[in-house]
Amino acid sequence: MDLCSKKLPLRSKYKGICEKKCYREKGHTGACSEFPYIADLAKNHPRVKNKIIRDATMTTGAAWKSEDAGPNRIPRQVMLQTDAVLLDYGLKMKALKPSVVAKLREKAATYEDCMSVAVKLTWLAYQMPDAPTCPKDIKNYLEKRYGTMAANSTPCIICKEPLSFSLFENAKRGKAEIETAHSNPREHNDINVGFAHRECNIAQGNKTLDEFYDWIIGILVRAGKIRL
Ligand SMILES: [Zn+2]
Ligand SMILES: [Zn+2]
Repeated sequence: MDLCSKKLPLRSKYKGICEKKCYREKGHTGACSEFPYIADLAKNHPRVKNKIIRDATMTTGAAWKSEDAGPNRIPRQVMLQTDAVLLDYGLKMKALKPSVVAKLREKAATYEDCMSVAVKLTWLAYQMPDAPTCPKDIKNYLEKRYGTMAANSTPCIICKEPLSFSLFENAKRGKAEIETAHSNPREHNDINVGFAHRECNIAQGNKTLDEFYDWIIGILVRAGKIRL
């Protein structure tokens, strides 16, 4: 799909180092929009819409409370900048613990990748069992980007069990039961991203999916549950 890609005004303290573009189809009528396909979720499932945009475009905000713990949630594209540039924006990377810096840096992603992730996540969300019906114009947009959509075809990328859309609204201690997950946690792009149960995502941790499955197999063998 050819996109409009018109630059849109940005009201952010990271203005100089962030982009914002129109993601409507090229030649569209009416106003430009960065997330044209999210309107229905925004209206009927605002938590899901917020989650998709946040997870796609922002670094995770761990419960970092101390002084050197680092900024909470900043745009992933900002994390592509050097320490020197970030200092101009009030982000003192050198004052942070190396582990925090590493965590922030591995969340870095280009604007294009973040925006593709947002579309892919929306496409996946509408294919969960019990997902709301996708309005025709939005379905058309999503299918042009990622292919034909079918009900019940979005499993947890980790355990492969079906993921119910209703889990988005279920939250335990403020944490949703569905999380955005990555086959390789150090790469944020549309090929590598999907949804997972929160507990599956926690179990996978920082391993790639292949490393995770090998780890599980090793445990099951040692525990005498399976024989290879
Ligand atoms: Zn436009
Ligand atoms: Zn799972």
